[in-house]
Amino acid sequence: ALNQNLAELQGDINVSFEFFPPRTSEMEQTLWHSIDRLSILKPTFVSVTYGANSGERDRTHSIIKDIKERTGLDAAPHLTCIDATPEELKKIAEDYWHSGIRHIVALRGDLPPGSGKPAMYAADLVTLLKKVGDFDISVAAYPEVHPEAKSAQSDLINLKKKVEAGANRAITQFFFDVESYLRFRDRCVAAGIETEIVPGILPVSNFKQLQRFAAMTNVKVPNWMTSMFDGLDNDAETRKMVGASIAMDMVKILSREGVKDFHFYTLNRADLTYAICHTLGVRPQVAAEQTQV
Ligand code: FAD
Repeated sequence: ALNQNLAELQGDINVSFEFFPPRTSEMEQTLWHSIDRLSILKPTFVSVTYGANSGERDRTHSIIKDIKERTGLDAAPHLTCIDATPEELKKIAEDYWHSGIRHIVALRGDLPPGSGKPAMYAADLVTLLKKVGDFDISVAAYPEVHPEAKSAQSDLINLKKKVEAGANRAITQFFFDVESYLRFRDRCVAAGIETEIVPGILPVSNFKQLQRFAAMTNVKVPNWMTSMFDGLDNDAETRKMVGASIAMDMVKILSREGVKDFHFYTLNRADLTYAICHTLGVRPQVAAEQTQV
């Protein structure tokens, strides 16, 4: 029965993978190794982040171009609007369109400390992009509410605005409390948001780093998770297994709840993401054919 369930799942689940621009040549090697390993899983798309206020935009673009050439995958650059004028953004979007890029992850970017009200929000960027070309657009969503939002309701209204401006899907901030995602998905449906709310899955192997990330982003790290990583500060190997097991449990529950699309924050590593995809029934084409023989 288990095999039958997996067979039913195969082909039904869509995955996408997020990478970030590497800072050293060693990191670059890891990135390409990961892209090669994960691309055989035929993701719907892969995306590359852009560090707002860090001048990394050119690096994001060149990695996107290289991924497309090397793998033929749909490769989506992240684009933030916090650090550029509308004219600059329009020019970037036109360049993307002319170089064959049809999918953009449209974001506002984090405000630098002490800055006032921003001139543009992500919804404005979606509107601007749609005027340049009929891009496939992904936007960010926050099951546990964006830290700056006045309320959960105003954050939800903001997501609705992004969808009404033309976003085709929302990708969530990472989370560990599956219930918070499921409640959020229900609230989106009730608010008339009809796009997929794709859960962003972060396989955790560095728990200390995660605690810092989570504090900055308003993401709850449940007590059960803290106790699972307790005592493993100097044991990277076991941490990795625990992290994989947590993410596997999460995706299993989510797929039982009808989730078909998953976005993985790979942190440029293939191993955990590959293993989690495997448990979801997402397999390389070749292996699937061999099992049928
Ligand atoms: P918005 O949707 O504009 O919302 C930002 C905040 O403003 C929210 O609290 C919202 O409720 C509020 N708001 C919206 N409109 C208004 C309004 N008119 N008046 C008052 N308040 C308003 N950051 C990067 O720098 N580079 C990346 O590559 C990157 N990739 C990401 C990928 C994903 C999937 C996610 C979830 C986040 C990513 N981020 C990235 C982080 C993101 O830039 C930050 O979370 C940022 O603070 C908000 O971006 P947003 O697009 O959600 O903004």
